[in-house]
Amino acid sequence: LFISFEGGDGVGKSTQAARLAEWFRREAGREVVTTREPGGTGLGVQLRELLLHGGEMAPKTEALIYAADRAQHVSQLIEPALAAGKVVITDRYLDSSVAYQAGGRTLDATEIEGLSLWATGGLLPDRTFLLDVPLEESTARLGEGRDRLERAGKEFHRRTREAFLFRAASDPGRWVIIDATRSVAEVGQAIVESVEALLGG
Ligand code: C5P
Repeated sequence: LFISFEGGDGVGKSTQAARLAEWFRREAGREVVTTREPGGTGLGVQLRELLLHGGEMAPKTEALIYAADRAQHVSQLIEPALAAGKVVITDRYLDSSVAYQAGGRTLDATEIEGLSLWATGGLLPDRTFLLDVPLEESTARLGEGRDRLERAGKEFHRRTREAFLFRAASDPGRWVIIDATRSVAEVGQAIVESVEALLGG
């Protein structure tokens, strides 16, 4: 079972990914691997450093480094874990590239999706949770921003959010949009209910 969390910066993805992993271990007795992009592997950690603190780079360069991180992530960590019957929960996956590199940086969405599908061999999550909060609230939560991407302009973040929402609406079988303005416990409950339905169905 492969689950991804998506959404803007500061919406609580890592908190909810950790909570859901705990739920799988406790309530479903499943082995779980939690991971993230960029930076889910050793090489990925180096690529993450380049992406977040490597200075300015051309949008296509950035898109290719994200794709490289993802290719390594899938082949080294995600595929082996899924093959071993584990649940894999990732904080960001290829939809982040469509939202940030296409929506945000305005590269072509079809090309970015194609690049990502090439990098991953077409592997898609069984379920993707979009943790959505209005722009004003996510900006307030982040404050100054921890890295160059979090400090990117408001317009960039608005386009990114729109791209996530558009993508989620286009594949409702995979995506569940979660109102992440609620408390951590309420958001967590909504996620668990959706997973229970997925496992039951
Ligand atoms: O989610 P996390 O904080 O680890 O992401 C690191 C940064 O990389 C964030 O600022 C996020 O906006 C950015 N990012 C991106 N394109 C991606 C994935 C993440 O610009 N495909």
